Amino acid sequence: MGLKKAMQVLWACAAVTLLLLVLFLRFETTVLLALLLGAGCVTAVIWVVFIRCPHCGAHLGRDVGKYCPHCGKETGL
Ligand SMILES: [Zn+2]
Repeated sequence: MGLKKAMQVLWACAAVTLLLLVLFLRFETTVLLALLLGAGCVTAVIWVVFIRCPHCGAHLGRDVGKYCPHCGKETGL
């Protein structure tokens, strides 16, 4: 998975997690809590595993920009 695709999937997962959080706060069911935690874990795993520089492989952290903060090469975003 490329960085651009990974970012799209990450944002989609974050949106689902946020939606589940809102639903959980409204209805407070165990099923929603389980789904919320599951979605949160998937989002975290995608962030840790795929949000990396395509050149040096370093994790890009919270602010993913046009250039890698570690090696300075273009990230392709
Ligand atoms: Zn890099």
